[in-house]
Amino acid sequence: MRQYPQLEFDLALLRSNADAVISRCRGMGIRVCGVIKGVDGLPEAARVLRAAGAAELGTSRLEQVAKCRAAGVPGPWLLIRIPGLTELPDVVALCETSLQSEWPTLLALEEECLRQNKTHRVIVMTDLGDLREGFWDKDELVDVCERVERELPHVQLAGIGVNLTCYGSTKPTPEKMNELVGLARQVEQRIGRKLEIVSGGATSSFTLVHWGTMPAGVNHLRIGEAILLGKDLQVDWGIRDMDYLRMDALTLRAEVVEVKDKPTYPIGEFAIDAFGRKPVYEDRGIRRRAILALGRADVGELESLIPREPGLTVIGGSSDHCIVDVEDCPRRLQVGDIVEFSLCYSHMLYATARSDMRIIFKNQSAQEE
Ligand SMILES: *Cc1c(COP(=O)(O)O)cnc(C)c1O
Repeated sequence: MRQYPQLEFDLALLRSNADAVISRCRGMGIRVCGVIKGVDGLPEAARVLRAAGAAELGTSRLEQVAKCRAAGVPGPWLLIRIPGLTELPDVVALCETSLQSEWPTLLALEEECLRQNKTHRVIVMTDLGDLREGFWDKDELVDVCERVERELPHVQLAGIGVNLTCYGSTKPTPEKMNELVGLARQVEQRIGRKLEIVSGGATSSFTLVHWGTMPAGVNHLRIGEAILLGKDLQVDWGIRDMDYLRMDALTLRAEVVEVKDKPTYPIGEFAIDAFGRKPVYEDRGIRRRAILALGRADVGELESLIPREPGLTVIGGSSDHCIVDVEDCPRRLQVGDIVEFSLCYSHMLYATARSDMRIIFKNQSAQEE
């Protein structure tokens, strides 16, 4: 097996992020579903989130639930991607709870529960403007919740939820959250009991916990990125006083396989690159550059990798090559040297999911309570 590229996961830093997020949520009466889809459901990460007090674990992929259960990670499990009809046998077998937005699916879920002689909990999703999953028609949502309550004995209505800032870039605001809470109250009136869960969204909704503006009534968030990476809100949203979240729990290491002085402008007639694109090249004369044994097959987009090596910039690459400009590096890089990067969410998603990626764990004891 190849040694590089290599991913190091510092579980103590992951634990620190999980503690920070979960304790702040707990202070506002909010339970956290720890979402592990960003790291391919790594059981080590899942264990850390549970040890830190995540009330349940969530992912969009049933294979990850199966993997974690086989590894003995304690649930309960929430499926956070609305399931297809073909997935329902595994949903009922593997997960305690799932997100739902279609009556036909809920009906089929009842049948599957009967078949397996089990009950299953659902969170019915509303769409408050992000335009991904969820009922757009709010009356329809209330009607469907009532029908689940009255007509589906094996499907338990645990609550309602919303997702924001995923397809649309709709921002969670106190107004949006109040809309959700209002809708929950409507459902409660109709069914004559309180809902257990009012699920206000993902990492982007954690901003309201951070700022202390989360309306009462929202009691559940499904959080992945803020815990795994901690970067979106601090870097992309520019929130400055969130430095209690560490952004360096994951380190990508790659090996230098070529170092040469070369022109910066390709020579000859131009066609297209390996991925069918027509890149624009800037002629900066002859510069020292290196090739890393790392490619788009490992991490997706290379240009957005975040180098930790001073002076190094990623200038491009292909499936299995990453070309970096090292002219300005104080360290004189040579073949065989190892360089490090921090990751964005998409890099983390792709890199952890590759079967040939070597993943090493630091501070394994962070998995214990
Ligand atoms: C991915 C996802 C989450 C977690 O999102 P993060 O931004 O990683 O916190 C929560 N809920 C749903 C429905 C998701 O698809």
